[in-house]
This record gives sequence, C-alpha cells and structure tokens, in this order.
Amino acid sequence: MTVRRVKPGTTVKTFVTPDSIRGRNDGGRYNSPFRQRRLFVLANVGGFFVQLVCLDLEGVLVPEIWIEFANRTGIPELRRTTRDEPDYDKLMSYRLDLLKRHKLGLPDIQKVIAEMGPMSGAKAFLDALRRDFQVIILSDTFYEFAMPLMAQLGFPTLFCHKLEADAAGFLVNYRLRMPNQKQESVRRFKELEFKVIAAGDSYNDTAMLGEAHAGILFHPPQNVIDEFPQFPVTMNYVELRAAIDAAAATL
Ligand SMILES: [Mg+2]
Repeated sequence: MTVRRVKPGTTVKTFVTPDSIRGRNDGGRYNSPFRQRRLFVLANVGGFFVQLVCLDLEGVLVPEIWIEFANRTGIPELRRTTRDEPDYDKLMSYRLDLLKRHKLGLPDIQKVIAEMGPMSGAKAFLDALRRDFQVIILSDTFYEFAMPLMAQLGFPTLFCHKLEADAAGFLVNYRLRMPNQKQESVRRFKELEFKVIAAGDSYNDTAMLGEAHAGILFHPPQNVIDEFPQFPVTMNYVELRAAIDAAAATL
C-alpha cells in the first residue's frame, strides 16, 4: 500500500484492488476516471463504503415470480395481482389456497422457481455493481421463493418477507416483516449515514425511490413513467449502471 500527499498535511491511502493485482483485463473499467475518483473518495473517508445501492428484485434482476410461476405451471389464476385484488391479505390467501389445491408444496414450487433463472445479464451486472458499491436487494417477495434465484445470483443480501409451511410442506401463511419495508429500510440506512441510490421497476418501488438520495426507474411500465417524471428512466443494465454511477458522482 502506498501513501501519497494530496495537499499539505493530508494523507490518503491508495487502494490496490485484488483484480488489479491479478492484472485482470476488464476493458479499462478498473482504471476508469470514475473508479479512480471513487477510490479517492473512499480513501478520504477512511475506507468506509458510504454509498449503498438498493435494488428491487422482480422485474430488475429476476422475472415477476408469480406471473412466471403461473405460466410454467399452467395455473392462470395465479396471475392475479394487487391490481385485480387490492386487499393483499385476500390475494395471498387465494394464492396459497390455489397452491394447496394443485398439491404444490414448497419443494415443488422451489423447483419451478429455480428453473426460471435470473434475467439475462443480471448476474454480471450485479457482480460488477457489488465490486464498487455495497448492494442490498429490497423485495416484497418471500425468502422461500427467492432463494433458488439468489443462489444463481451468488447470494447477494436480500431483505424480504417469509412464508410458513405446514408439516406436509404446504404453504399455510405469510409474514410481512413490516409494512412499507422498502421505504423504511432506506430511511434507516440514511440514519446510518449511508448515501442511498435506489432502483426499481414499478409502483411498489416509488416510495423507496423517493426516500433515497437518488431514485432510478428500470424498465418501468408507461403509466409509472408518466406518473413519476422525477425519476430517470433506464431500460437496460448498461443504462442502469450509467445512471447509478452518475448519481454516485453527485452524492
Ligand atoms: Mg419489481
């Protein structure tokens, strides 16, 4: 590790990344002006990562789980969403009932979900993002559903909800960790002195995006674009990464 002077009386540490030690060929990304500036910023705060990226899961890194599950199992009734049934409790009871009626226990469900896989390019995007930022995925899905997909994404940190199964493996109940957990999580990260950049694709992300220091929409439906013009819109991972980097440079 080398120490260099930036102005009289101030010293900062210059970071050497494992990748640069290995001479990894990454097309210049590791030596980009953005990265150099970022390492300089990190050095100035004693090495703490002060910028946190919070990502939605479904529609950003993995498919919409219920809809894809309905397609793969041929149970169209499972496509029902909060748009059709605004009472979330009723909707979940309806879904769990349907699963039991079709004799789908948790292992069957997890097998179908594992076969969905993450979206194309999601793992590479996430791996690169995690090299430069602390990343937390905030989702309204359930651990029992998400874990087969998390395994394929390298087990990033995920905050979401929980399901309960009975002795026979059928899902009987669900537990929301707390109401509005995406927004509440961001609010608490800010209290921990993190600068938060958040990205998501739909209505249930807009409170989180508004709470964050910078909010970014990813591949949103047109009605969300129209209703929330304050958030920049990105349509693919290259654009999303560019928007995150641009936001990070201003925080
Ligand atoms: Mg989503």
